[in-house]
Amino acid sequence: MLRFFAAPEQFREDRVYLDNDEAHHIKKVMRLGTGAVVRIFDGQGREYEVELIVERGAVWGRIIAQVPAVREPELKVTLAQGLAKGEKNELVIQKATEVGVQAIIPLICERSVMKLSPGRNKEERLRRVAREAAKQCQRSVVPTVEAACRIKDIVTRFSLYDTVLLLWEEEQACNLKQTLQELRQKRAIKQLLVLVGPEGGFTAAEAQEAIEHGAYSVSLGPRILRTETAGLVALSAIFYEFDELSL
Ligand code: SAH
Repeated sequence: MLRFFAAPEQFREDRVYLDNDEAHHIKKVMRLGTGAVVRIFDGQGREYEVELIVERGAVWGRIIAQVPAVREPELKVTLAQGLAKGEKNELVIQKATEVGVQAIIPLICERSVMKLSPGRNKEERLRRVAREAAKQCQRSVVPTVEAACRIKDIVTRFSLYDTVLLLWEEEQACNLKQTLQELRQKRAIKQLLVLVGPEGGFTAAEAQEAIEHGAYSVSLGPRILRTETAGLVALSAIFYEFDELSL
């Protein structure tokens, strides 16, 4: 069944009002008319079966029923992604959304090619990528793309997570699998933060700061992965380890 997005504030009692983008998609691309029954998700985990009313000026829907959101992982993983060049950030957000990430925090590192925060328009573009990816992979949650921050800022938020993993190519002792298995024996892990460096990698000082604040440094093996590969490999391995890639 076709799926469209509407933010929570677009729902009012038993009705939902589609924004211009979705109205255009419904009318001009999918050529749907009044009476068509579709799914509408609110990006916060709720999904509804809706009968569309297609008018000249607007498209809205009458809610038939709420439907269970069956595609969301139990494990909530936030990916703090070292800012990368050009389209790489969009690629990471799209793929991380498909794999099941809960939130993405653009990380500004010493060696980030993009020194500054991406700026409002770029952040809006990244949010749109997350929304479109959630729509395509049939998730009812749209991962949040938070404001960009630096290591010194994000370490103050580590206590919000059960575990923080630092993907560190210089790590010589601990690998991801062993670390996850050991941690799972000690505590329930519901909220996980994964830190990935930029193209140039984390500086030793950045890695040290994260470790001093409680991050577990882990290796993804002997090969050096590109920044846009490393986070996705780690996310996939973590979701596999937590049985989140199962029906
Ligand atoms: N220093 C690397 C570039 C960093 S790769 C080089 O010399 O090319 C970008 C980021 O991906 C790293 O900061 C790290 O977070 C992650 N990464 C890449 N390969 C990794 C590995 N084998 N183990 C752990 N993390 C890795």
